[in-house]
Amino acid sequence: MTPREIRDRFGAHREIQGGGWLHLKKGQITDDTEMSLALGASILDKGAVEARAAAEAFSAWMRTKPADIGHTVRRGLVHFRRTGETAVPHNEYNAGNGACMRTLPVALFTYGQDEAAVRAAVVAQAHVTHNSELADAGTLCTVRMIQLALSGAPKAELKRLADELAAARPEYRYAGKPRENPSGFIAETLQVVFQALFENDGFESGLIETVNRGGDADTTGAIYGMLGGTLYGVQAIPERWLKDLDHKTKAACEAQALALMALAQ
Ligand SMILES: [Mg+2]
Repeated sequence: MTPREIRDRFGAHREIQGGGWLHLKKGQITDDTEMSLALGASILDKGAVEARAAAEAFSAWMRTKPADIGHTVRRGLVHFRRTGETAVPHNEYNAGNGACMRTLPVALFTYGQDEAAVRAAVVAQAHVTHNSELADAGTLCTVRMIQLALSGAPKAELKRLADELAAARPEYRYAGKPRENPSGFIAETLQVVFQALFENDGFESGLIETVNRGGDADTTGAIYGMLGGTLYGVQAIPERWLKDLDHKTKAACEAQALALMALAQ
């Protein structure tokens, strides 16, 4: 939905309620979280971020006929099934948000590793479906911001990384007019997330702002969740939202995050 459609129908969308164009149950997750869990399971299985293991995990997920799957993700996984290659051909016009939206397990597992190792892990899983320097830059920035937040750094330090990204790649400039109705293009996705993160003071108001910008809101919401979650901590997430999550999914996310952090140490 566009922001205007959301306003006309809900005023502001503040509660988990299901429905939408995918006819979700209340608290049901979409491809962002499903692919994150698949990626995280592959990392735990191998004790490493391995492109082949990630590709196989994503391919197995695609076999479950997910409620939603991005065009670029599908094409990348079909390429893997046909060729066995764990990286799609380079395509700078193919800077979708599909690799960034599932990157949280990589951020947790590589926490504390040096920059080259973090970058290698980020790129290995990303290139299974998205091989674009522009998308890589945004995904790497997201991972570094998550890791900074985990280290206890203040929000201003996260903002410094976002500003460096916007200086290096002007597509990511986020200052100025609010970005509405973001598409699946990663620059639009991260513009919404950065604006909401840096212009709000808590997890709740930032996430509400993010999803009310409309467009690819499951993905902007997922990426805001990674950053806002690590920055503000679980105690900042409203109890009513935690209660409405699918219970099995919530337990799986908690167990996986803790296992990845344990390996990181
Ligand atoms: Mg999405």
